[in-house]
Amino acid sequence: MTKKNIDWSSLGFGYIKTDKRFVSDYKDGKWSEGRLIEDANVVINECAGVLQYAQTVFEGLKAYTTVDGHIVTFRPDLNGERLEMSAARLEIPVYPKEKFVDAVVKTVEANADYVPPYGTGATLYVRPYIFGSSSVIGVKPADEYQFRVFTTPVGPYFKGGAKPITIRVSDYDRAAPHGTGHIKAGLNYAMSLYQIVDAHNKGFDENMYLDAATRTKVEETGGANFIFITKDNTVVTPKSDSILPSITRRSLMYVAEHYLGLKVEHREVKFSELSDFVECGLCGTAAVISPVGKVYDHGKEICFPAGMEKMGPVTQKLYETLTGIQMGKIEAPEGWIKVIK
Ligand SMILES: *Cc1c(COP(=O)(O)O)cnc(C)c1O
Repeated sequence: MTKKNIDWSSLGFGYIKTDKRFVSDYKDGKWSEGRLIEDANVVINECAGVLQYAQTVFEGLKAYTTVDGHIVTFRPDLNGERLEMSAARLEIPVYPKEKFVDAVVKTVEANADYVPPYGTGATLYVRPYIFGSSSVIGVKPADEYQFRVFTTPVGPYFKGGAKPITIRVSDYDRAAPHGTGHIKAGLNYAMSLYQIVDAHNKGFDENMYLDAATRTKVEETGGANFIFITKDNTVVTPKSDSILPSITRRSLMYVAEHYLGLKVEHREVKFSELSDFVECGLCGTAAVISPVGKVYDHGKEICFPAGMEKMGPVTQKLYETLTGIQMGKIEAPEGWIKVIK
């Protein structure tokens, strides 16, 4: 194995073409065996279901090098399960989770030279997705689909330490009750672009979305779930049917309870409760946890006591424990680490 000549620690979060990608076709009611190919371009009909009616779902996970030199991924079975659920909601034929994990392993193996070495903070981002590839003009599901997995090396999320961010309460909604907020679909991102561009233009890092029905409860940001820490060190995460079930968040809650002995609560979180919390973080695969220092709500500011300089102590402990488990420095719960090679 000869690693590619890449300056790993100066990589950003962008697309870099790697050597191989996995493709399986759905035709005549079944998925093909699947194969690794070199062509990074997708050729589909102008009237493909994905282009006309956004029939597509995706996943995101990382492959990385552990302290003892293995290439691994973190809980890919949960990504496979979630993709099954996302696909079913958009009338996309389910790609079985066992085959999903197999495809991820094959794609990472085939691009092993792009998996950044341990200690660089960089990782190989893995993007599995499915889209309707056959033509659809009357509104209905496509007859044919492609499941694909590609990889791209990405840099450390925090260059020079995780600084707390400032977020604002959004005037737009992310997800309707009984809608599609709980699935990982491009459509949930397309409609968030206006808000994120606007937030950035106004100097905010992210949008906090409230529940669409009452606008009194905290949901999530465009691409990460919330965790909050109370004065007595309880870890609280919002519960709602329109939140995307983050694997990072679920893992952090487990770590809080079983590794750190903290009390955990998965419940509705009122926006009016925010000022009672002492720490706040956003969790997702990309950053694991981004600390939130401040929430801006139409001229009012809610500042968490943890401040704007560094992560709060409980957030820091959660971050260190989960990344320690991922990097092979702390023993992982059974089944969390999938060794690829
Ligand atoms: C992917 C995603 C997350 C984070 O989920 P992870 O499994 O932790 O990466 C959170 N919210 C939304 C809307 C997402 O799409």
